[in-house]
Amino acid sequence: MPLVPMRQLLDEAATGGYGVAALNVNNMEQIQAIMEAAVETGSPAIIQASRGARQYSNDNYLRHLILAAAELHPEIPLAMHQDHGNSPETCISAIDQGFTSVMMDGSLMPDGKTVATYEYNVETTRQVVEYAHARGVTVEGELGTLGGIEDGHGSGQTHLTDPAQAEEFVARTGVDALAVAIGTSHGAYKFTQKPTGDVLAMKIIEEIHRRLPNTHMVMHGSSSVPPELIEIINRYGGKMKPSFGVPVEEIQRGIKHGVRKINVDTDNRLAITGAIRKVFVETPEKFDPRDYLKPARAAMQEVCRARMIAFGQAGHAKDFKPMTLAEMKAVYAKQK
Ligand SMILES: [Zn+2]
Repeated sequence: MPLVPMRQLLDEAATGGYGVAALNVNNMEQIQAIMEAAVETGSPAIIQASRGARQYSNDNYLRHLILAAAELHPEIPLAMHQDHGNSPETCISAIDQGFTSVMMDGSLMPDGKTVATYEYNVETTRQVVEYAHARGVTVEGELGTLGGIEDGHGSGQTHLTDPAQAEEFVARTGVDALAVAIGTSHGAYKFTQKPTGDVLAMKIIEEIHRRLPNTHMVMHGSSSVPPELIEIINRYGGKMKPSFGVPVEEIQRGIKHGVRKINVDTDNRLAITGAIRKVFVETPEKFDPRDYLKPARAAMQEVCRARMIAFGQAGHAKDFKPMTLAEMKAVYAKQK
């Protein structure tokens, strides 16, 4: 099956009232973990790669690995998404590489650090939408800034999304999906105690959904940072500080109010690291990479499976006939 435009997965999620985990990858084992979890649960899947991932693995490796995943599992609708495109050039190069969805993060300047003006954000995002929609490709924008820095990306400041501005932003840019800043941040250290609905500003999500019922919202930095994963890492010689992520119940509350894509990366990183540390400590004589990459892959699969079930996407892989980019292009052309 060719890769599916992400817009269709999100439209279907809205119809079915569920969310879809967007899972970051850098290598083959992570792609395999996601696909195995999707097959196990019958879930549509979004695989995403940051700019850092594209540099680490090289676009050609990444593209062929994800195409292999689609070829091996034709029953799973699969979208390939550029996470945090820092400029129109990055998004265009992703589209030219076969990504079926891109995020233009115009909330920051191309350095990925300096907070951009609203007008800059509107202008760059609109440009990307024009290029992408002419090819049937989905676009996610971001308004407001998330806390935390990941892969060198992030201002380190948090600016919550203004719902009135979100309404105008979507009208002026034509984005398919909008990443909203509600107080979450990237990375493992999000909160020093379990966050409540107020800390997470879930009200913003509810208000944006009221104003924009047809725009798919995206929650970034939405790993739950389960204490048991931190515990495994530390039991086997790791040194991670205690931390709290976004509770799955809060994500489920967001899904009730228009959140359709939930970005999860940290939890998978934690699972992989814990599994590898365990092998190294318990069987220090081992040196075949498969001895630790297999349990690492299984540990990530377990996290992906749990999120797919919690977000409600499980069982929805066969609800619809996947669209091609050409078909999606025709849909966008009609809306013009
Ligand atoms: Zn993000």
